[in-house]
This record gives sequence, structure tokens and C-alpha cells, in this order.
Amino acid sequence: MIRVARGDEPAALAAIRQQEIQRVGGALAGDPHAIHAVEPVPLTAKLVGKAYQAVAGDLWRAQFRKCCHCEMRVPLRYNDVEHFRPKASVRQRSGGRADPGYWWLAWTWENLLFACASCNRSSKNDQFPLVDPTKRLRAQAQPPGHENPLLLDPAEPTANPEAHLHFDVVGEARGHVSGNTPNGACSVEVYGLHRDELVEVRALELDFIDSELEAVSRLLRTGRIDSAQKRWTELLESIKPQRSFAALRRAALAAFRASRPVEHQAALAQVPASVW
Ligand SMILES: [Zn+2]
Repeated sequence: MIRVARGDEPAALAAIRQQEIQRVGGALAGDPHAIHAVEPVPLTAKLVGKAYQAVAGDLWRAQFRKCCHCEMRVPLRYNDVEHFRPKASVRQRSGGRADPGYWWLAWTWENLLFACASCNRSSKNDQFPLVDPTKRLRAQAQPPGHENPLLLDPAEPTANPEAHLHFDVVGEARGHVSGNTPNGACSVEVYGLHRDELVEVRALELDFIDSELEAVSRLLRTGRIDSAQKRWTELLESIKPQRSFAALRRAALAAFRASRPVEHQAALAQVPASVW
């Protein structure tokens, strides 16, 4: 996960939001719980509809065609507009009680991301854990209110999600990810960032990065410092947000630099903390 920048809200979304809030709000008659008196939670998803899909392409392109959570490049088709605050139903954790979701935020630009089906549907689904679930927003209240979410929001402009995550880049656990903080740990769990398929593909990416780093190591060992620095600069410049697994790449470079002898560390420029 890296920070993502959505850019400006697409012009069409404001009109969709106005129309849909009126439609759904009217159907719920101002009481988000009323729907549950007659039907179980899934009806809310049906009621909310899919008008937010109008901005799927805008989100996908803003995120460089990557999933906002796992950083895999994915096609627009078969993948999802992800609602940071779930639109239809919400659970503190998987298997827990389903409460009415944040339906009024289903068309709010700041609540929308683009995610792969594995992160969004198979893993997160309607989970949105809070430090204190009794502080959950009331219907039609605007976030954050008194909510303190346990999930990392990749589009939060003042935070760097990478600081909350630790990638294992060497040894047995190579390719694994864990949390440096409670929010990092919860996000790994809820978005399923430790699933086998991702660990495997990250380990393969590390094979490729390692071969590049080995070349730098060889140049340093043989005293060709200028060439090592040139190669290192190229590697730093390759950490682009467009690239799959940019956070992993940055972590691998930082770990490589930290493991060099002090005189070699001084020769290599520091790895920036984030792309922004
Ligand atoms: Zn994903």
C-alpha cells in the first residue's frame, strides 16, 4: 500500500450523489434501521445500487491501474470501486454483527477507492473496525465525527501508509507483510495483505530486485563507487507509484542500504520515505 491521490472529484459525481441520496434517503424514510425491520441487510446493497460505478475509471486511472491495498496492477473490469466506509452493511470484524452501512457516503469522492476483488470482496467485504465501535457515525453524519478507524486509508492526505507496514525482504518470511502499528496490523488482516498468492508474487518481485541490488553490492565491494552510485540512483528513480509493489521495492532498497558497511551507506543516497 502506498499513498494514493484521487485528484479532483469528477464533475458527474455531484449530481449523482444528490439524486441518489434523495432516492435512498426517501426509501429509508430517514431511518437507516427501518429497512431491517422488513428485510435483512442485503436489501440495503440492492437499494444503494451501483451509480457510483460512473467514477470507477477515474479512480482506477488515478491509482495508476493498481489496487489501492495490495498494489497489484489489475484490469478495470472484474475489479471494484471500494468504499472505505462500507456502503450497505458494516461489521466491526468479519463474522460479527452486521449494522446498516454508510449508505449516504456511497457517492462521496473522498470515500471511494479502486481495489481488486480479492482485497475488497474476498477480504475486507463490509468490515470497518473502529477503536471504539460505540462512536460509529450516525446516519448521514459526515466523517470523521468521533470515529477512530483501525484501517489505513491510502488516500488520507496527511498520512503515509508505508510507515505502518513492515515487509520481510530477506530470509524465510521473504514476501510477508505485517503491521508496525495497530492500524498497520489491522489493515494487513482486513485487506488480506498476507494471503499466500500475494506473498508468492512479492517473493518473485524480490528475486528481481535482489539481482539489481547484487549488482550494486558487487560494484561497492570492488571499489567502483561512482558506478555503484549511478546504479543506485537508477534504482531509487525506479520506485514510481505507477509500478506494482512500489512499497515493497522501497522497503527492499532501504533494507539493503541499512545492511551495508557504514562507508558504503554514506556513498548511497537515502531511500525516500514515500513517493509524495
Ligand atoms: Zn488488492
